Amino acid sequence: MNPSTLPTYREFLNATGLEPVDARALICHALGVSPAWLAARQRDAMPSDEIERVSPAIKRRQQGEPVAYIVGTREFYSLEFAVNPAVLIPRPETELLVDEALARIPAETAATVLDLGTGSGIIAVTIAHHRPRALVTAVDASAPALAVAQQNANQHAPANVTCCLSDWYQALPGNRLFDVIVSNPPYIVAEDPHLARGDLRFEPISALTDHADGLACIRTITQGAVDRLKPDGWLLFEHGYDQGQAVRHLLQQYGFIKINTLQDLAGIDRVTLG
Ligand code: GLN
Repeated sequence: MNPSTLPTYREFLNATGLEPVDARALICHALGVSPAWLAARQRDAMPSDEIERVSPAIKRRQQGEPVAYIVGTREFYSLEFAVNPAVLIPRPETELLVDEALARIPAETAATVLDLGTGSGIIAVTIAHHRPRALVTAVDASAPALAVAQQNANQHAPANVTCCLSDWYQALPGNRLFDVIVSNPPYIVAEDPHLARGDLRFEPISALTDHADGLACIRTITQGAVDRLKPDGWLLFEHGYDQGQAVRHLLQQYGFIKINTLQDLAGIDRVTLG
């Protein structure tokens, strides 16, 4: 083929109609090249075999599939995590939850940490990676999700994460107490129209909504935490922008003290702890 009839990399990228950041990520992934490699070739003709190699990924994104599922990874807290449609895609807001948990886990002691509804394991694995002496239990009720968590634990914190298939506390050994219980549970209300839009359509519905008022899982976890936390232990939740007051009230009801709600980088209520 006459090379002059081929689009340049830039022309190809523009013709996808995708967000440039998405198109670049997909091209780099499909070709196995770095963003710098791609940037240096903006004006060069894109060989037809490369066009063929990137087209399936581009098509999937054009049909709405999230980039993270297509490339199979997403960065969180400067670590690269494996993801697939069995797990929620890591969100930057959740880094606040990890920050607050880490602030309550001393580096020098063998603190016990429980992450309920771990999904891809980002919370459990990031904590374990930064607190090598901590013993972290990662729980999920979904076996395919837990397999992803295990893979990420093997990658980033092989020595101190235990994955456990369990419906919240149910399958945990009865006598196990924790210094910190942390959770990013499904907290979207059943009728939220966002569930039918954008990337959320492709994510596991059981990780997003409790099919109720958005507080059902937070209630179950709080209730159970009373018997599972050590006396000075901490319970930390990620929750929705309008749930701070309700979660503070719930923690109060169950006898928690030092209750506080924190805002994410967008200034939105995102984490409540006690
Ligand atoms: N923060 C996510 C969202 O709004 C929801 C995550 C969750 O329900 N735990 O898309």
